[in-house]
Amino acid sequence: MEIFTAPQELRDYLRGRSGIGFVPTMGALHQGHASLIARARSECPMVVVSIFVNPLQFGPGEDLNRYPRSPEMDWQLCRAGGADVLFCPTAETLALSASMTQVVPPLSMTSVLCGRSRPGHFTGVSTIVVKLLEIVHPQRVYLGQKDGQQVAILRRVLADLHLEVDLRVCPTVRLPSGLAMSSRNQYLSAAELAIAPELYKGLQAARVAFDRGTMDPAKLIEAVQLHVAQFPALTVDYVELVDAISLSPLTELSLTTGILAILAIAAKIGSTRLIDNLLLPYASPT
Ligand code: AMP
Repeated sequence: MEIFTAPQELRDYLRGRSGIGFVPTMGALHQGHASLIARARSECPMVVVSIFVNPLQFGPGEDLNRYPRSPEMDWQLCRAGGADVLFCPTAETLALSASMTQVVPPLSMTSVLCGRSRPGHFTGVSTIVVKLLEIVHPQRVYLGQKDGQQVAILRRVLADLHLEVDLRVCPTVRLPSGLAMSSRNQYLSAAELAIAPELYKGLQAARVAFDRGTMDPAKLIEAVQLHVAQFPALTVDYVELVDAISLSPLTELSLTTGILAILAIAAKIGSTRLIDNLLLPYASPT
């Protein structure tokens, strides 16, 4: 596995190569990231993983400085997963500055769900991902459904900017408890770790109601809220049901398949903010 920090050196190394699968990450890698690398490995002749804790996507007072970092373990996981190239740029090598050009996704997609409490977050994500794509020039980029809003926004950014890259979305990898794997799970105490799976159990309560025929978005949202309300250690930021592509809030569901809704939750346990979501089949109201 080759390791690069300088964009130009990576560019020179990759020049002329085709079939690159790219997995952008912020490090502190776990089995969720490993699943993206494994999928890229199975579909692409060359796999590039990036690790960059992107300061642009952290707001004031968020956890940029204490975000978990484990470079040696990350390198091992990438090597074991069969990555060909690990790209570890820095804010300097990526030429980040307050006055740099930024990629600003549509407000309709960034002002809902996590965007409401994290203004600027998805502009930060989109700016760095577009920069990385321009350096790596992959044929495919691999993202996790765990960050469903990020997936929808980046899909839109790629389309709007005519960036020629296939977006592959991988399912959320969970612990046996149901808790979605996340680098931020490292912040949780043992007691908090015992409560955290209740986010997913709440989503599952709505899924059960949906499978039994509940189609009213308000009732599905309520099913999640009723479940998580049993756990005072959880402070819910939002429970929302939105179109998986446009992120528009939904007022109606139908069972026609092929179109997806995201039922999403964000909640704090202590000072740690966790997110999770489920996809539900639905049809747009006509
Ligand atoms: P991060 O390092 O948190 O920025 O995540 C890098 C990529 O890994 C993103 O596309 C995430 O959606 C994805 N990812 C993170 N956690 C999981 C998970 N539990 N299952 C699947 N993909 C994940």
